[in-house]
Amino acid sequence: MSVDTNYTLPGNIFQTIFEKSPGSILVKTDLPRFTILAASDSYLRVTSTTREAILGKGFFEVFPDAETQLIDEKAARHVFTKVINTGKIVDIPSYRYDVFNPDTGNRELHHWSCSNVPILGNDGEIAYILNTIADITEEVKAKENAMESASRLRLATEVTGLATWDIDLQHHGFYYSPRMVEIFGQPPGTVLTIGSMRSQMSADDMQNIVRKSFKEALITGEHLYEIKIVWPDGSVHWIKTQGTIIFDGNKRAVRMLGTVLDITESKRDEIRKNDFIAMASHELKTPLTSLKTYIQLLAKKISKSDDPFVSNALAKAENQVNKMSDLIYSFLDLSRLEAGKLSAKLQPFDINKLINETIADTNLVNNSHTIIFNSNEAIAVNADRERIGQVISNFLGNAIKYSPKEYPIIVTCKIIGDSVQVAVTDYGIGIKQRDQEKLFQRFYRVENERAKNISGFGIGLYLASEIIQRHKGKIWVESQEDAGSTFYFSLPVGS
Ligand code: ADP
Repeated sequence: MSVDTNYTLPGNIFQTIFEKSPGSILVKTDLPRFTILAASDSYLRVTSTTREAILGKGFFEVFPDAETQLIDEKAARHVFTKVINTGKIVDIPSYRYDVFNPDTGNRELHHWSCSNVPILGNDGEIAYILNTIADITEEVKAKENAMESASRLRLATEVTGLATWDIDLQHHGFYYSPRMVEIFGQPPGTVLTIGSMRSQMSADDMQNIVRKSFKEALITGEHLYEIKIVWPDGSVHWIKTQGTIIFDGNKRAVRMLGTVLDITESKRDEIRKNDFIAMASHELKTPLTSLKTYIQLLAKKISKSDDPFVSNALAKAENQVNKMSDLIYSFLDLSRLEAGKLSAKLQPFDINKLINETIADTNLVNNSHTIIFNSNEAIAVNADRERIGQVISNFLGNAIKYSPKEYPIIVTCKIIGDSVQVAVTDYGIGIKQRDQEKLFQRFYRVENERAKNISGFGIGLYLASEIIQRHKGKIWVESQEDAGSTFYFSLPVGS
């Protein structure tokens, strides 16, 4: 193999290379003047000058700002002198030096990094300094922005008392902010692990809340739950955790991150409020039951004497008492639910028979709407008969409340796959899309001009959804505003 030894470059090609190189200037070490010997095109561009204007002149004569704008360690004279004194390269990784922009007539903020390389002359002494600069304004701004948002986030989490956490599911890393240690009632400096935090929760809650929420999050990408924790001193506290899952390109969960908030105070308020509702409902139940008995007794006696006004008034009174007792029972159910005591007593029964019975009960007080149900074949389910009746009754009651009387209400019940699906359709006021997913939340009522005067507490659908969930079924709604709604629930057949 032949080697080309003729590598001498033609003419003053080195000068051309220098002039094309990024951001370079060559100065002589004739201090204090530092005569400029060469400058690259890009250096001239960023400093808005020309070769003719600066070559042969002293560096500080041309760039007087370099003496005044920069102070101390980063000042050009200091740096050049250091290169000469040490004989070493001096790098300044970041400094601010504003540049005049002839186009805008303004001085503009810039950040730079520079390298100052000593170059020896023939006598072995440092004869020149090669100063190379790079404009890092964008990088510095991006870093400042990132730091600003990080500190804003830190401030926001400190003010709100939130702890943040981040789990690397692939490499099993767990990161959390110091506030987490306080929320879990541990001494400062304690190292938390997922295991140690879980050990502060009950096994039932782990199963019913944490695992369930994690499973759902794998589908929806979001999770949110409230849970009790026990501090090392034995006291019970409540936390609310909220987070997001990040998936990779193969839809595999790779990271989870979110926040934890101590909600003990508001939870204690809520528990007190629930206790009050439970107590008040319980106290109201007894006099109401005797009131109902007296009304029924009176009705029996009156029917014998033929006074239509009195018997009519008693029927109305019984009706109102029934409404009141339904309400009180739903408050009692609510407090049972909150206390985790709403259980489902499973038994096999024919759901079509139950629908027929519930329609008949509803019709005792409904003299406005026609309820249509045409299914008589027996469909067996294994569920809590009374509770499922309660759900059907809530759907029917709402269909009556939220639709005009001239329109019918249609009930269907059919088997779809291995589930039985019950639907109640009305042609009433309907529900906006954005309200539909919230209907099943506690106390949620749609704000609607047409429903303004319809009484209710927003409990029925919440109870219905909790009942259906306890049966491992599904509950949902399809609706269009001003056209009507269909409320559905489905239960596993024969389960
Ligand atoms: P309540 O009717 O006592 O307020 P629910 O929990 O049964 O409580 O219902 C919650 C809300 O859902 C109601 O306030 C109403 O705004 C809306 N809603 C329920 N059923 C219907 C329906 N069939 N048509 C229109 N809106 C409905």
